[in-house]
Amino acid sequence: MPFVTSDRMLADAKKGHYAVGAFNVENMEMVKAVITAAEQLQAPVMLQTTPSTVRYGSLETFAAMVKEEAVKTRIPVCLHLDHGNSFALAIQAIKAGYTSVMIDGSKLSFDENTALTRRVVDAAQAVGIPVEAELGRVGGKEDGLSADVDQNTDPDQARQFEELTNISSLAVAIGTAHGFYVGEPVLDKDRVAEIAAKVEAPLVLHGASGLSEADVKECVAKGMCKVNFATELRVAYTDAVKRILAEDPKIYDPKKLGLAAMEAVREQVLVRMKMCGCDRKAFV
Ligand SMILES: [Zn+2]
Repeated sequence: MPFVTSDRMLADAKKGHYAVGAFNVENMEMVKAVITAAEQLQAPVMLQTTPSTVRYGSLETFAAMVKEEAVKTRIPVCLHLDHGNSFALAIQAIKAGYTSVMIDGSKLSFDENTALTRRVVDAAQAVGIPVEAELGRVGGKEDGLSADVDQNTDPDQARQFEELTNISSLAVAIGTAHGFYVGEPVLDKDRVAEIAAKVEAPLVLHGASGLSEADVKECVAKGMCKVNFATELRVAYTDAVKRILAEDPKIYDPKKLGLAAMEAVREQVLVRMKMCGCDRKAFV
């Protein structure tokens, strides 16, 4: 199936009380690994790239890779810009073929975030591309973003934000962090249900790498419709490369490293998709 946009996928997830897994990819091997896993489980899938990944490759390169891999499958595949940091980048992603974009104005004031998000929504929705925005601060670091103090999303403010911006999906802060957790994360899971009761747009959980199965399942049960996994895929990939080089330091064929890394990423994606409950949901 060719590219699809994220709105239908996430609306189905909301109706069906499961979440679509969204996996950050950084090269061809990760693209292939994620799509292979999704096809194996017959799951709808979102692949996403951050601005730094886009600088490493390019929007056009990632769009071409994902599109080529997607058309070989029967499952719905969406390519999403994760943590888009400017109006320009969001529009460039759409022009390159991305089928979903995020604009992250969560570091801005409420009014500035609203204005920036509204601007991207107006432009993107004019050409049928859904927009994810973020309200509240997800802790930790991703792509140079950082927040020292966790500021969980306020449900009433979220409702107001949705009314003012007409977003397609909303990333909310409930105590998760990007990157590695130092100690046990303290999640405000009830907050998910409180926000879900006031906001119509499907909710997005960032910073899910390292969360336990129970935490992910509870967040999904309480209303998260998209769950992002990034750091743990990078770890799975790199550990696999280290392992194979430790076993045989004479390896010089990048394909051997790539195959081992792909297998490790695919396995991790399978585990997380089952946790999100999106397996066998490709054709619902
Ligand atoms: Zn994030």
